[in-house]
Amino acid sequence: MLSTNEQIQAELERVAGITISPCPSSSPFLKVHRAGICQTDRKAFCSPPSSMTLPRILGHEVCGQLSREVNGLVGGSRVVLWPALTCGICNFCKSGRENLCPKIQLFGCHLDGGFASAISLPENLINRLICLPLPDSLTFSQAVFAEPLGCVLHGLQKIGSRQPASLLIIGGGLMGRLAARAAGALWPGCRVAIFDNNEKRLANCRNEGGNREPGPAELVLVAASAARAFYYGLERLRPGGTIVLFSGFNREERKITLDHNLLHRREQRLAGAYGCCPTEMKQALELMAEGDVQVDDLISRTISLHDLDSEFTRELTVNDYKTIIL
Ligand SMILES: [Zn+2]
Ligand SMILES: [Zn+2]
Repeated sequence: MLSTNEQIQAELERVAGITISPCPSSSPFLKVHRAGICQTDRKAFCSPPSSMTLPRILGHEVCGQLSREVNGLVGGSRVVLWPALTCGICNFCKSGRENLCPKIQLFGCHLDGGFASAISLPENLINRLICLPLPDSLTFSQAVFAEPLGCVLHGLQKIGSRQPASLLIIGGGLMGRLAARAAGALWPGCRVAIFDNNEKRLANCRNEGGNREPGPAELVLVAASAARAFYYGLERLRPGGTIVLFSGFNREERKITLDHNLLHRREQRLAGAYGCCPTEMKQALELMAEGDVQVDDLISRTISLHDLDSEFTRELTVNDYKTIIL
């Protein structure tokens, strides 16, 4: 294992053929071993959000090795990055809801992200950086899933601390399948179904509860970027149930219409879920390390950094789940 700043820098220069001149030798950095491409990255590549200053290196699903000691973790430690810096002092930060910090800065959006050989870690902000150590049993490729699985856990926890009797996931993409697997691990008695209007995608999630005509559910997770997915889920929400808005909708569909009286009489709850907090990423690492959530078969493609442009411009298929940059 590489353990010093110099060793890691020498290895980087050998592998990538670059000199990390913008990163002073005293500044810590994360040597990126693996980075995952998320839908958010694909959307930002085509249409950067207004909060993103350009030019910007994308990538928020990142794991690697620290160049030197950072916040109690020794140089060479294998870590995954919680991909944000927060203020640490607001009520959200102090109550474990760091994803809602009004001063949040996201790697891959406000700060350069992980589609690079290394991420320079800002020395003056280093105490606000959260790196989670990887359990020995996890590979770097598996650790890439800590962030998406953490987001899924964040969404599922909107039901509260009890186990729902039934969960319906709308959308059989990567997040939908991860949500079904996480629910299987967390809630053994819960009946899980996934609906997708694409027959092939539905067939791919047969083992996770893929169902063409799902029944009503107590918890509905909308993991598809279309308003019709929300309406479909709301129709199948039981009285007293919770529907979670997990995916952002396309810009033109972002305004939805609700029958207030139905929600009122059925005492249904509508909950937003956005990103994840460090505790959920930690839980995601534990679930994967224990073998309770398997992710290997969800890696549909591996590419090198040099192939990034063509990856962003190619047409995705129903068999695309997670592309990982090696
Ligand atoms: Zn992501
Ligand atoms: Zn804060």
